[in-house]
Amino acid sequence: RLIREAISRGAHAHPIVSPTSWKSGPSRHYDAMVVGAGFAGAVMAERLAADGGRKVLLVDRRPHVGGNAYDELDDAGVLIHRYGPHIFHTNSQEIFDYLSRFTRWRPYEHRVLAAVDDLLVPMPINRTTLNLLYGLDLATEEDAAAFLAAQAEPVSVVRTSEDVVISAVGRELYEKFFQGYTRKQWGLDPSELDKAVTSRVPTRTSKDDRYFTDRFQAMPLEGYTRMFERMLDHPNIDILLGVDYCEARDAYPHDHLVFTGPIDEYFGYRYGKLPYRSLRFRHVSLDVDRYQPVAVVNYPSPDVPHTRITEYKHLTGQQVPGTSITYEFPAAEGDPYYPIPRPENQQLFKRYEALAMAQTDVTFVGRLATYRYYNMDQVVGQALATYRRMTKTPAIRTVP
Ligand code: FAD
Repeated sequence: RLIREAISRGAHAHPIVSPTSWKSGPSRHYDAMVVGAGFAGAVMAERLAADGGRKVLLVDRRPHVGGNAYDELDDAGVLIHRYGPHIFHTNSQEIFDYLSRFTRWRPYEHRVLAAVDDLLVPMPINRTTLNLLYGLDLATEEDAAAFLAAQAEPVSVVRTSEDVVISAVGRELYEKFFQGYTRKQWGLDPSELDKAVTSRVPTRTSKDDRYFTDRFQAMPLEGYTRMFERMLDHPNIDILLGVDYCEARDAYPHDHLVFTGPIDEYFGYRYGKLPYRSLRFRHVSLDVDRYQPVAVVNYPSPDVPHTRITEYKHLTGQQVPGTSITYEFPAAEGDPYYPIPRPENQQLFKRYEALAMAQTDVTFVGRLATYRYYNMDQVVGQALATYRRMTKTPAIRTVP
């Protein structure tokens, strides 16, 4: 029953033809069940199957592979990211080489503009941002650094996200770019959030307007979903889509479990729920060739409810008539997207982590199982390292 249900629910979205053979029926025994077909689960499944020679059942409750990186053609034929824009970037040669086995790449450097004071200006703040916003002509890095230093306010102990920004660029730029955006994104004022949140966004005195400065910046040429399909196309991997772990757990006996879902859910929310911030996406197709000058425009103003608009054709380079955009609205309820970085939440996670460490036949990996915001490359790195560690333990040692 599970299999038929999975195939009928999963097939309409992105059929996985070759890996789902089901030759031996539902009582088949697996070396490992992997829960979650995002980056964490897909890398673990691929390594266990292709390198370890293990029989793997990959289960996801969504009707598709790819996790949050899933992309699909919308009704207008435009390749969109259902769960918000995903831009690949990494400094790791190993991670880039590993993924390159499953995809070719389209070189892409991400650029973001922010709608501030009726202007579209580069984000992160750079020298061009300052010149446009204040009608200046700061010619050198030293000029920009001196301007920012004059704006910055001394903060004796940098503790919160507000402290980080105000001590670097002063209150005016903080209010224009960070305060409204952060309040919308997190439902909290930056003064209530750990300094790590805004530390992620640099301020530049150069005119470099790239969002990321990593060595490798590229998009999978045929999209993320196609890359996942290739990664999972292995005779040792069966895939069950549209089925929750709790339904699959007893129906498919397995020696080892790799769990990439929420760690608090795995333990039945024994100590309470780990708090997450969620998002609501509004996908819109438009009858124009281009909607905005870059892939992402941020809206820090408290006067509009969305935080950003993404236009996918910039990311993918797809040549089709019309365009598709996505509005992002932060939300308290919904899918778990961003762990809320507050010390008490980390303490709660540590209690779940202690339970996880006592499980010898379960491996926890990925952003939901480790309650950390990770970029895609970091999750791939975490999964590759986890697999390497597993092959050193007798329970799941690589098959000769
Ligand atoms: P996920 O992709 O979330 O996969 C987990 C999977 O497990 C899901 O498919 C879920 O359905 C499944 N699952 C959970 N519980 C169960 C269960 N009980 N039973 C069955 N299945 C279950 N990173 C970047 O590098 N660049 C970006 O530009 C970028 N943009 C992002 C934008 C947004 C809006 C968000 C939210 C994240 C972004 N990220 C980005 C981060 C990226 O999404 C993550 O690094 C990546 O998705 C993590 O992969 P994962 O496998 O750990 O988790």
